[in-house]
Parts: sequence; C-alpha cells; structure tokens
Amino acid sequence: MIPPVLPTYNRADLAFVSGRGSWLVDDAGRRFLDLGSGIAVNVLGHAHPALTEALTAQAGALWHTSNLYRIPAQEELAERLVEATFADTCFFTNSGTEACELAVKMARKRFSENDPERTRIVAFTGSFHGRSSAGIAAAGSEKMTKGFGPLLPGFTHVPFGDHEALKAAMGPDVAAVILEPVQGEGGIVPVPDVCLKGLRDLCDAHGTLVIFDEVQCGMGRTGKLFAHEWAGVAPDIMMVAKGIGGGFPLGAVLATEGAAQGMTAGTHGSTYGGNPLACAVGNAVMREVATEDFLAEVRRKGALLRQGLEGLVASHPDVFELVRGSGLMLGLKCKVPAADVVKAGYGAELLTVPAADNTVRLLPALNIEDADIREALSRLDRAAATLAPAAA
Ligand SMILES: *Cc1c(COP(=O)(O)O)cnc(C)c1O
Repeated sequence: MIPPVLPTYNRADLAFVSGRGSWLVDDAGRRFLDLGSGIAVNVLGHAHPALTEALTAQAGALWHTSNLYRIPAQEELAERLVEATFADTCFFTNSGTEACELAVKMARKRFSENDPERTRIVAFTGSFHGRSSAGIAAAGSEKMTKGFGPLLPGFTHVPFGDHEALKAAMGPDVAAVILEPVQGEGGIVPVPDVCLKGLRDLCDAHGTLVIFDEVQCGMGRTGKLFAHEWAGVAPDIMMVAKGIGGGFPLGAVLATEGAAQGMTAGTHGSTYGGNPLACAVGNAVMREVATEDFLAEVRRKGALLRQGLEGLVASHPDVFELVRGSGLMLGLKCKVPAADVVKAGYGAELLTVPAADNTVRLLPALNIEDADIREALSRLDRAAATLAPAAA
C-alpha cells in the first residue's frame, strides 16, 4: 500500500525535533552533529538568533501580499544581491529548480526577437539543476529523466571536463551554457578556474550566455560569496537557492541587464516568490554571510576540516580515497560504498550527505564551531573504523 507521503525518497529512519547551531536532537533525545545542513541549506546552523528574530518579527507584521504590490523586503534583498555581485537585477523564487526554469526561459527569451534560432542550451553530464521538467532536461541523466518523456527539447549534453566536446557543441543556435562551478550532487567536483575562464571566452566568442548554477556552491559555501569569484569570471545569469534562505524556502535568479532584457512585464511570475517572510530571512542571511570577515572564517574553518579529512584518508586508506572541494563544500570519495559511510555516520550520531561518484558530502553550517569540526572528525574516524576494508 502506498504510504501517505509519496515514497520518492529513500529516507533514513531518523526524525529530528529541535536544533541549535550544528546540533540536532531526534525524537529519542539523541544529539546528532549535523554536517549536512539540510543539503547546504542551513548556512548559519539551526535556530540562529538573527534569523529567528527576522522571521518572527515579519510573521507578527505581515506574511504575504503577492507580487501585485511592492514588497519592501524583496527590494532590499535585490539591492543587496545586486550590490554584492555581477548582477543588475533579480527575480525571487521558492526553490532552486524554479530558478532553473527562469534561467532557461530568460536565456531563450533574450534572443527570441532578434535571433530566434538561438534556443539550444548546452549542459554537462553529472550536473544537477533540480527536478522540474527544465531541470531534468538540463541535467539529462537517465536516473532523473527515465519515464518522464517527452523531455523539454533543445538541450545538448557534453561530458564534464571535455573541452573539445564543448567546443564542438557550440554554434550559432546556442543560447546558453549552464553549469555548476562546483558540481554538488555530482560528488563535489570543482571546475578548474582556467576552465571557467576558457568557457567564458568561448561563450563570448559565440555570443552565448553563461548560466552558473550556484544553488549549492553559492552563498559563502566555498569561502567566497559565490564560487565563480575564485576564477574571476562572471556569468550572465546565476541561479541561487538553498543557503540564501538559511532554511526558509527561497531562491533567486540574478542577471545582467543585457541577459534579462526580454523579461518584461507579464513574461514571468510567481505567487510566493520573494514574499515578505522569505525576504526578511534572506536579508538576515545576507547581513551575516556577505561580509569579508565571515567569508575569511569560512575559508579558515574549511582548511581546518580539510586537513582533518586528509588525515582520515591517510589513516583509513581502505575506506576513503581522497578529499576534494573548497571552503566548507568538501567531498570524501570513498573506497567502500559511500552509503555505508553515511550509515556508519548515523551510528556515530553524525550526519553527512551521499552524492554521486561514491562521494560523501560534508556541508556543515558556515559558522560551525572549531570544536564541532574536531568532534565531527573524531566521529567520522569512529564511523570509518566500523567499516570493512574495500575488497583488494
Ligand atoms: C539542490 C539543487 C538544485 C535544485 O534546488 P531545489 O531547491 O531542490 O529545487 C538545483 N541546482 C543545484 C546545483 C542544486 O544543488
């Protein structure tokens, strides 16, 4: 019999009832150290006082009015994002996949009048852009698309990291190239800076827009506000979600004026997108995260965690293979099944997140305490010790 909750998730039998900082308490009173952050969402941990205060103050004043009227908190958040990035304008969504929908629509609309054949979107294998029809068409993997056809047309997939294939895929009909500067679901796989630069140059040469999906790697995760800043290249359109709401559903599409020029009144909309509650929290997240001091701390904490993980790879060579990623977006590629490592973590009351390429993701709160980093490493050490070595 089908359960009341549609069984699309293979859930762990854990139910959390409260949280504070990097710690969660389950319904049996056990305390778990959270290195998953609801999949890179709780950037300031659980129950951060500034976020609770922003949300409850807004909840007491006004919940929702719709986008038929001006929303002051939304205007404030848009100004903050424009100020902090390459972008000239923002549209707010409730999720990453809705940001993908708009990014694709915006890119196609940009050319619809003057260059109407330019509709194709080039994407990379191993990517993840959400579960909407545009999101699964963009990612293209059989795991996400099988049985859901006919898929949204006009997407071409290039093997991740294959420069020649990317060059061959370009042409006068390509509206945009979409990619994650650091693949998240794909297993924490960064695109080297030189490749991002090369991609930008290639797209400029072809008059093609660049869409960066920073839903997972953005909002301070890598130690810069957005991951593409490391490479010194900017996109034309960027998708943001996850961390920007700190746990409240919120996403955004940021764009240059040129890329957004087709999006005139009536071309897109959302009932909830950028509502007062979401934007009150988004402003509070930006106030905390978008400062050089905070981001420097993310880089320092990231280096501390990474150093510890390298130590675990050395001391458990049969369990772990290598560490990759940057800042507090780190992946442990495993030799045993990554799912076993995640499960062993539950036994040690430590939460991590599995990803593709047999990788375990470590996505702690960006303000995780140093002592909690050390505790997480010791729990991961304990978890690894319970696992059988990989078959030689
Ligand atoms: C999570 C994610 C999405 C989808 O976001 P949702 O809020 O789950 O719709 C899109 N792109 C990337 C890179 C993600 O990590």
